[in-house]
Amino acid sequence: MKLSSKTLIRTNLILLPILLFLLYFLGYPKENIPSKNLGQNEANVSIPEPNEKSPLVFSILKTGEAKTLEAFVIEGGSVLKAVTVAHSSFYIQHPKGNFLFDTGLGTKVKEQFQEFPLYLKLLMEYQLVQTAKEQLESSGVKTNSIQDVFFSHLHWDHASGLQDFPSAKIHSLPEELNHPKLEAGYISSQFDGDSVNWKHLVFQNKPYASYAKSLDWYGDGTAVFVPMKGHSEGSVGLFLHTENGQTYFLTGDIVWRREGFLEKKHKPRGARWIVDFDIATLGEEISRVHNLFQKNPDLQIIPAHDHDVQSPLGFYPQVIGKK
Ligand SMILES: [Zn+2]
Repeated sequence: MKLSSKTLIRTNLILLPILLFLLYFLGYPKENIPSKNLGQNEANVSIPEPNEKSPLVFSILKTGEAKTLEAFVIEGGSVLKAVTVAHSSFYIQHPKGNFLFDTGLGTKVKEQFQEFPLYLKLLMEYQLVQTAKEQLESSGVKTNSIQDVFFSHLHWDHASGLQDFPSAKIHSLPEELNHPKLEAGYISSQFDGDSVNWKHLVFQNKPYASYAKSLDWYGDGTAVFVPMKGHSEGSVGLFLHTENGQTYFLTGDIVWRREGFLEKKHKPRGARWIVDFDIATLGEEISRVHNLFQKNPDLQIIPAHDHDVQSPLGFYPQVIGKK
């Protein structure tokens, strides 16, 4: 069947705006990330070493994953390249007490996910691997031995297992509870209720690397939290200095792929509309980590969802940072 020229024109008139919207949604034109105007101190900064030899090691617990296209996780990414998104929890081990940084997907994730409207269910589809609680228990780590759980932020895929650790103090910045909207990726049933033992993070006015504030958890410089801007109201990053002398930086969801920091790229525009809190300060944060990496090329940056960074390090029970 041959289409008449009128039909062709009509079809094009319908398809063209859809195509243009799709391109815009994926991030064309690209959102520029201005170079951060750094003070002399910030531009030259290096990452402080621990006071003494570090006894710290950690593991990455892959609680779930999702398959998607690179174009959906980083601006300018390929629509032909398939990538895996990890939903991870980090298990930090130190003689002074072990803690979790994020929980990934928890035992009630299926019910929790039902709260999302259909479009978010489609965008955030996931595959459960095994919850952090189950993985730890299956290798003999009792749930009540986890006394502290910290959060990079409280979006659903990080806080889903929060109530799987009822003996733990829950550490996040209080700003995370300012506007926990479902449309932005928060499921408040994950952290509502009197049973949650909140112990909100309080940063000290003590500069660390290029951050003005920090919290040195063990007091020995091996695990240092810093406030990170833009993705949510109270995002938190974590520097880890391991036994083998390496330095890792867990950066939550500031970007979803490490290349975001290296090449200064945001998430795709459509993803930013949904999950990011403030694009301008997020750009500054990406720029800050970019500069930090320029000065410290050995720094191992681990975004919460970057499977291509996490997989080579190995997942739990693999221990990372051992001498
Ligand atoms: Zn996330």
